[in-house]
Amino acid sequence: MGEMRDTAIARRALLALAVGVVIGGWPAEPTGARAHAERKPKTKPKRQQVRTIVLDPGHGGADPGAISPRGIREKTIALATARELARQLKASGRYRAVLTRQRDVFVPLRERVARARRHRAELFLSIHADALPDAAMRGLSVYTLSEQASDRETAALAIRENKDDFVAGIKLSRQPPVIGAILFDMARRQTNNQSLALARSIVDELGRAVTLLDKPRRSAGFAVLTAPDIPSALVELGCLSNREEERLLPRPAYQRRLSQALVRAIDDFFAGAVPA
Ligand SMILES: [Zn+2]
Repeated sequence: MGEMRDTAIARRALLALAVGVVIGGWPAEPTGARAHAERKPKTKPKRQQVRTIVLDPGHGGADPGAISPRGIREKTIALATARELARQLKASGRYRAVLTRQRDVFVPLRERVARARRHRAELFLSIHADALPDAAMRGLSVYTLSEQASDRETAALAIRENKDDFVAGIKLSRQPPVIGAILFDMARRQTNNQSLALARSIVDELGRAVTLLDKPRRSAGFAVLTAPDIPSALVELGCLSNREEERLLPRPAYQRRLSQALVRAIDDFFAGAVPA
């Protein structure tokens, strides 16, 4: 029995080592430095850092996004809800919230991603509202970057930005091209998995608070989700094409309810409560 347990522990240690090499073993974070940090006296409690969340209200300016039958514009719903979510995130004391646009202005999609990376966001959430051809359809849905789009878009992004691009703390241009490509791909895959975990957290928590669309977890080639090193998701808060949600989405009380559930989903994501 003891021997079996030893073998199991050894196997687990090996597995942890292998996973550590894949997930955490970046050259930017050498194990020696980590071991040294752990020997330091515990003056500060762990995990007290304030995390940066970038919220991206969809559309804006000349681009209204979807327009409801009664003329309610997606860009307005997105900005109002993002502001409320930012307020709640800040109030929690656990997060710093940055908006990609503060006002009714047009911001190009690439610039939204660039702003998130400049702020070293740990999470990127793009906020939208849908309009579907079938007015009976309603509910919230969450998009992550599709695998195909991920391959194509992030490869293109890598080529464009490689010169001075940092991914997961690694300066790619300082690596031999083959190593840089491998490290980039590993970072991107890890980010994709985290984005999927984020989408699951959102569906779990929002499903308890509001109506979800059929098959609420979806993927598509959204340019705004292509940061290779920031877990990213796009939330369609509801359907402006549906009479009931056209009525609900502009209401501050409904925006507060959506935001409360989104804060819980973000908490769950960082707590690792949802298995990847
Ligand atoms: Zn939109």
